Amino acid sequence: MKDIIIIGGGVAGLTAGMYAKRGGMDTLLFEKMFVGGQAATTYSIENYPGFVDPISGPDFAMKLESHARKFGLEILYDEVKEIVVDDKIKKVITEDKEYETKTIILAMGASPKMLGLDKEERFRGRGVSYCATCDGAFYKDKVTAVVGGGDTATEDALFLAQYASKVYLIHRRDQLRASKILQDRVLAHPKIEVLWDTVVESIIGEEQVEGISIKNLKTNTVSQLELDGFFIAIGIKPNNQLAVGKVDMTDDGFVIADETMATNVPGVFAVGDLRYKPVWQLVTAAADGAVGTLSAQRYIMENFE
Ligand code: NAP
Repeated sequence: MKDIIIIGGGVAGLTAGMYAKRGGMDTLLFEKMFVGGQAATTYSIENYPGFVDPISGPDFAMKLESHARKFGLEILYDEVKEIVVDDKIKKVITEDKEYETKTIILAMGASPKMLGLDKEERFRGRGVSYCATCDGAFYKDKVTAVVGGGDTATEDALFLAQYASKVYLIHRRDQLRASKILQDRVLAHPKIEVLWDTVVESIIGEEQVEGISIKNLKTNTVSQLELDGFFIAIGIKPNNQLAVGKVDMTDDGFVIADETMATNVPGVFAVGDLRYKPVWQLVTAAADGAVGTLSAQRYIMENFE
C-alpha cells in the first residue's frame, strides 16, 4: 500500500511529489498526458520567484520533473479511471490495475473554457485554438483574434503578435482583468487592437475559420472580422471528472479544500488549479502542492501509526 498517490503531474502535483519523496513517503504520481500541466503550454514564465530571466513553460516543466525525480518520485503515465474514497484505505483504479493508498492528493488541474459557439468544436484545429503557445507559429503574417480580458488572453495576444500581422483582442467589457504590466504591454503594442465591449456571436467559414461575427454591446452594432486564427482564452474549468460525487465542490466544479488542502473526505487532499481559491498561479500551485503533502503526511501519522 502506498502512503500517497498523487493524481496529476502539473506544477501542484509535481511539487507535492517532490515534497513527499523528500519526506520519505512511499509515493506514486499518475499523469495521463505530459507533465507540467498548463505551465507546459505557457510561452514564457516571468513571475515565478527566483527565475530572474524568463523561462519557457516546457523548460520549467522539465526542471520541476527532474527536481521531483531527483528525490526518487515515481511517475506513471497512465490514466486513472476511478477513485474509491469511502474507507480508510483508498483505491486508485486504472484500466488494468488497482492501487491501495493511505491518502490521495487530487491535482488534476484545469483546462480552458469553451465559448459555446456553433462550429467552435468542429473548427478546433482548423482555426479555433485554446493554446496560442501551441498553435501561434502557424499564423505567421496572418490575422488573428483572441477573446478574453484576463492574464491568459493578454499573454496570448502578445505571443501571437510575434508572428501574426494583426491581433484583435476582443473583450466584453471596457476594462481588462489582466495584471497591469500585461495591460500596458498590450495597449502599447502596434499590432494589437483591442475591441472593447464586444462579444463574438458566431464563427464564419465552411471548412475552417474564415472570420467571426462580433457585436458591440454599447452600440449593438454587428460586424464581421476576417480572420485566419481565432483564439479563445476566457478562463479555466476544473478537470474534476474523477472527483464528482466523491468530494465537495463549488457550483462551478472546483474542489473545496481548506487551507491545509484537506477536502471534506478524510485522507483526500486537493491542490492546484482544481481547488477553489482566489488566485490560480504557478506560485500558488506549488505552494498548494507543498502544503497538501505535509498535511497528508500529518494525516498518516495521526491515523496509521
Ligand atoms: P480569467 O482571469 O478568469 O479571465 C477570463 C477573461 O475572459 C475575463 O476577462 C472574462 O471577462 C472573460 N470571459 C469569461 N467568460 C467569457 C465569455 N463567455 N465571453 C467572453 N469573455 C469571457 O482567466 P485566465 O485569464 O485564463 O486566468 C485564469 C487564472 O490564471 C487567473 O487567476 C490568472 O491570474 C492566472 N494566470 C496567470 C498568469 C500569469 O501570472 N502570468 C498567466 C495566465 C493565467 P470579465 O473580465 O468581464 O469577467
